[in-house]
Amino acid sequence: MRMRPILATIHLDALRHNLAIVKKIAPKSNVMAVVKANAYGHGLLRVAKGLAETDGFAVLGINEAISLREAGYKQTIMLLEGVFEADELELAAQWALSIVVHNEQQMAILENVVLSQPIEIFLKMNTGMNRLGFRPQVYATQIQRLSKLANVKNIVMMTHFAAADEDSGISEALAKFHEATQTFSYQTSVANSAALLRYPESHTDWVRPGIMLYGATPVSGQAATSFGLKPAMQLTTEIIAVQTLQAGESVGYGHTFTAKELTRVGIVACGYADGYPRHAPSGTPIAINGKVTKTLGRVSMDMLFADISDILEADVGSAVELWGAQVTVDAVAEASGTVGYELLCAVAPRVPFEVIETHG
Ligand SMILES: *Cc1c(COP(=O)(O)O)cnc(C)c1O
Repeated sequence: MRMRPILATIHLDALRHNLAIVKKIAPKSNVMAVVKANAYGHGLLRVAKGLAETDGFAVLGINEAISLREAGYKQTIMLLEGVFEADELELAAQWALSIVVHNEQQMAILENVVLSQPIEIFLKMNTGMNRLGFRPQVYATQIQRLSKLANVKNIVMMTHFAAADEDSGISEALAKFHEATQTFSYQTSVANSAALLRYPESHTDWVRPGIMLYGATPVSGQAATSFGLKPAMQLTTEIIAVQTLQAGESVGYGHTFTAKELTRVGIVACGYADGYPRHAPSGTPIAINGKVTKTLGRVSMDMLFADISDILEADVGSAVELWGAQVTVDAVAEASGTVGYELLCAVAPRVPFEVIETHG
């Protein structure tokens, strides 16, 4: 049966290649592959297969962590927001998960239960993001509390940067972190993708790359390819109709694009209900039959429009790449006023996925 042609293809070789880049850049660090949000929209278990050589996985929900364990992954699996109640803590211990501890409530749970086996703690410091974590001034006290507990197997000292991708960088946050941790010899973990790519001093015991593993950029304005990364996801579809606009005619809702001259328009089977950004304006790059052209008019729920005036052979059935190797997800994101992260995470459940070993 022939189906609607939209498809997200996950390239395992690209995931492996990007992980190898991480290891090459930070050869002394353990790698904690961040696979939260269903592996940034790529599919948790699909991605885990491509990243099987990683030293650890970081997820948000305990259900994701358990599904990785059930699939046979033996490495460190860390819960980025830790646990939310005592029962969950015991479950985490039973599955040999590692957990972030970032607030007093989590600390109290840990102090007031008897776990069936001790658990690894990533103790989070707030070095300026002001989201999760203990302030530097009280960090040593928390370390001392943890170090007394039979429930605690070992401690990793951790922070997360607010501006690793910005001009202001990480130096202030890293200085705070060093000052508050210098008297302890526990392992540390500080780098996300942007820090990993920009600041070698962030390559401590554990690095935590997310977006770069998927081959999108963590640094706006700097292409993922400039870091040697390859896109792990290719979102493709086909042209399902062709319209020819006379000068003065418009296409799509709101008539936001009006042709100045004779314009051939490919009607593309992908819309915002597939996860394509509705904010993508006319002019957003899109590839038809391997040639980069631009979108026209307003993205609708199930369709969008591409200018095929200069792609003479384009017709119903022609191949369309929304994002992938020809048009980067970052280029679509930039045109739409967002970041590749958001677009990748937003690929809709109705889009079928396929996993392949190699590009080509
Ligand atoms: C999401 C996340 C990361 C990965 O960030 P990227 O920018 O995708 O590399 C690392 N650490 C923490 C705590 C995170 O929440």
